[in-house]
Amino acid sequence: MIVQSLLGGAAAGTAAWISLRYAWWRPARDWRFPRVLMYHMVREHRPGTRFNKLRVTPAAFSRQVRWLAENGFTFVFASQLFSGDSLPERCVCLTFDDGYEDNLTNADPVLAECDARATLYLVTDRSGGWSSKKKAHHADDELAAEPKLTDNQVREMLASSRWELGGHTQTHANLATLSDKEARREISEAHDAFAERFQTQPPTFAYPFGIYRPEHAAMVGECGFSGAVTTEPGIAAWPYSAPLNVPRIKVSGNDTMLAFRLRIRGGRRGLRS
Ligand SMILES: [Zn+2]
Repeated sequence: MIVQSLLGGAAAGTAAWISLRYAWWRPARDWRFPRVLMYHMVREHRPGTRFNKLRVTPAAFSRQVRWLAENGFTFVFASQLFSGDSLPERCVCLTFDDGYEDNLTNADPVLAECDARATLYLVTDRSGGWSSKKKAHHADDELAAEPKLTDNQVREMLASSRWELGGHTQTHANLATLSDKEARREISEAHDAFAERFQTQPPTFAYPFGIYRPEHAAMVGECGFSGAVTTEPGIAAWPYSAPLNVPRIKVSGNDTMLAFRLRIRGGRRGLRS
């Protein structure tokens, strides 16, 4: 009896842990609301470094995109979320922030295989001054050292028709630390430079670090972007009532397939995000 109740207690504890961790009981968000997924890198983890959550392994990424394709999801570009056109149920928008080289070498082959598409929130100036630092006192520059896409690689991606460009500021700026004039320049430059370099204007925008104030969202609209995505976790009701503040589902390099599927369903990870 004692052993049984101990075992029962352990099982109940495990069940409670799973419930809290995965929140499987949370109802699914309406399937008419598109799922916007946020990725950074698709590559193997670097042992002992800080940002492996931003590194989804090629095997995990392949499993995720295949699962979406096999479960009836339609892949859309971010521009399609804001165009006013109707969308089918179960839409998913894959987004990649910053412009890492592995988006071409590791993610693109999976997109090709699954007939999928993705939106690339590309930092305009990825050479030299590109910084991953949110604050000046952050000493490490782990993300700045990751290989970035060259303009020619971006052209190759655009030519495949599997990728759409989005703006992510000129220098990966923390907008909250800039004057209004500087912030506007970072945002408008992200819009205008791509027309010259890639013969395409980026229809939508992603806030670097997810940091912005209401006036920055207004600037994004004034600079010609039709919508913007944040790093707030969730799935917004669609059509959007606040198209310059659209949350995304963060895909972590540590996610299991179960965690991934539950977040597609509910938008958040467990009780936190
Ligand atoms: Zn970024």
